[in-house]
Amino acid sequence: MSEKKLLGDERRDWILHTLKSRGIPITGGDLAKESRVSRQVIVSDITLLKAKGEPIIATSQGYLYLNPKEGAHHEKTVACQHAPDRAEEELNLLVDHGVTVKDVKIEHGVYGDLTASIMVSNRKEVKQFLTKIRSTNAAFLSELTDGVHLHTLSATTSEALSEAENALERAGFLIRSL
Ligand SMILES: [Zn+2]
Repeated sequence: MSEKKLLGDERRDWILHTLKSRGIPITGGDLAKESRVSRQVIVSDITLLKAKGEPIIATSQGYLYLNPKEGAHHEKTVACQHAPDRAEEELNLLVDHGVTVKDVKIEHGVYGDLTASIMVSNRKEVKQFLTKIRSTNAAFLSELTDGVHLHTLSATTSEALSEAENALERAGFLIRSL
């Protein structure tokens, strides 16, 4: 980064390039520090980039650029229900099957469908996600719905998704149809 502050479009180009080239989540605070602006400016920049259709998502570990070219991914949505104290077990079970947990969705009484990015693919990321939730006293979205929620899962094969779903079933995480 040069000495001078980057302005507007130049800074947004830099953000986009940085997210794409590093390929890992980067926090708003780090982007702010490196480009010498406030975190609030970064939040606005990211919002503008998203409005232009850039596939950037905010995860608990920071902003992530979702590279659409990264292999063909199979996706599946599963309906789960569990108490907050089983979140780690559920997420670990999924990532152990080679599955990425992309998000959690719930139906909220006021806002309708709410989605939050999770984006965990291994136990280390699960741990980081849960540590962040605990350290900020953030609630799990599913606490608003008595533990009922959906997860979007992705994997490189459809077999991995089926196996993960079977494991969820055996461990009692899937909602059973009444
Ligand atoms: Zn869950």
